[in-house]
Amino acid sequence: MFPNKEERLQMEYTNPEKGMVQFLSDHGPYPEKLHRLGLRNSPECECGVIGSPKQMVLYCPLVEHFKEERSILKTCNVVDIVRNPEQYNVLEQLNVEISKIH
Ligand SMILES: [Zn+2]
Repeated sequence: MFPNKEERLQMEYTNPEKGMVQFLSDHGPYPEKLHRLGLRNSPECECGVIGSPKQMVLYCPLVEHFKEERSILKTCNVVDIVRNPEQYNVLEQLNVEISKIH
């Protein structure tokens, strides 16, 4: 999934923050994950949908930030996002916002 070593060294902006690590590893403040850990009664987000990382980042109506950027992210796969500094930063910031909700 990740670029090779040479490409990785050129990606100076790629200094994984907590939010990105959480998104990629599924070990973040997502209702689905918290439910699996016994920390929530339901895997559903307050919006009524199963709160998976992808659902929370791309579709949850409770995350009101970066609406325009989110619509762009929907057309990308994870490799595209990791290779694009702009999209990478949007995804990182979205995860920060999600952390504040749950
Ligand atoms: Zn939601």
